[in-house]
Amino acid sequence: MRSELIRKSVQQMTGYVPGEQPQGQTIIKLNTNENPYPPSPRVVEALHQLDPDVFRKYPNPVADDLRSRIAELHGCSVENVFVGNGSDEALALCTRAFVENDGNIGYFEPSYSLYPILADIRDVRKSPVDLDETFGWVTPPVDLCPLFFLTNPNAPTSMRFSRSDVESFCRSFRGVVLIDEAYVDFADEHCMDFALEYENVLVLRTLSKSFSLAGVRVGYVVGAVTLIAAMMKLKDSYNLDCIAQDLALVALNDMDYMRSNTKRIIASREKLTADLSDVGFEVCGSQTNFLWTKPPAVISASDLFVKLRDCGILVRYFPGPKTGHYIRITIGTEKEVAVLLDAVQHIVKDGIA
Ligand code: PMP
Repeated sequence: MRSELIRKSVQQMTGYVPGEQPQGQTIIKLNTNENPYPPSPRVVEALHQLDPDVFRKYPNPVADDLRSRIAELHGCSVENVFVGNGSDEALALCTRAFVENDGNIGYFEPSYSLYPILADIRDVRKSPVDLDETFGWVTPPVDLCPLFFLTNPNAPTSMRFSRSDVESFCRSFRGVVLIDEAYVDFADEHCMDFALEYENVLVLRTLSKSFSLAGVRVGYVVGAVTLIAAMMKLKDSYNLDCIAQDLALVALNDMDYMRSNTKRIIASREKLTADLSDVGFEVCGSQTNFLWTKPPAVISASDLFVKLRDCGILVRYFPGPKTGHYIRITIGTEKEVAVLLDAVQHIVKDGIA
């Protein structure tokens, strides 16, 4: 074991642990906020029509067509758009572009559990800001850090912060604010305009959730030309493969499909929120494709997680003093949600008996 060969900070850190990806069809997988429905039929058609000859050549290094479409969607120029190999790549690049070696990275606690890991990878300090008791907004100090990751709607809490809180923070904050809008297509408002109005604001989106393309790995960032140019300098030469560029473009040209798909998921979300509340769950008002919910007193969140697992239903549990009382449930198909509800009703009834 020659661990001295490894950089000290890497020896000490723990890598990100993604939600389980079990193989096999019998599991109902409601643990990683994937979309339960397939991508647009146009994406499937484009995949079948791919000419393997394009694989011989390197892909477009700066994904011109894809960036043009994103620019068109948001009413900005191509220079305002960065596309990444998943939005996770863009988040990592921000830590390299905007934080000095003796700097720090801020984020809310709880929020996306990758942010502290990215700080560890970059070997800089972490500056978490605790949300209030109900996971509500708290304004971070204006000079807290050179880079603040702000998930909105937040994960795993599913709730969104108001545009006015976010905007006044962006206006006064001295560093870069990255508003992570991974789930925004399931929400009733967004903050994309801040990215084009404020020079220190970036807005991040992904095709992994609302566009059902988590496996294809495409995310993007919109913001001021100077910030985007810095990220472009640091990216891998060919960070997006040609298939990803093609399929993402096709998906972004079929916004109607994405919108009708998200509507369907929102309808299931609202129904499950009501049904779980009837069984005694406290359910946060979700603006995402998942629920953040506290089971009734008869069962702890960790026991519920294990019991659901025993029934072949995977949800997500985040141990910890605040998060440990809740479980996170991704909205699956209507059928999966019905099976989950049935299992939950039985588990709670057994707990009372
Ligand atoms: N931001 C948030 C808040 C997320 O939950 C996720 C998905 N785990 C991502 C970003 C990354 O998404 P992707 O890399 O698939 O684009």
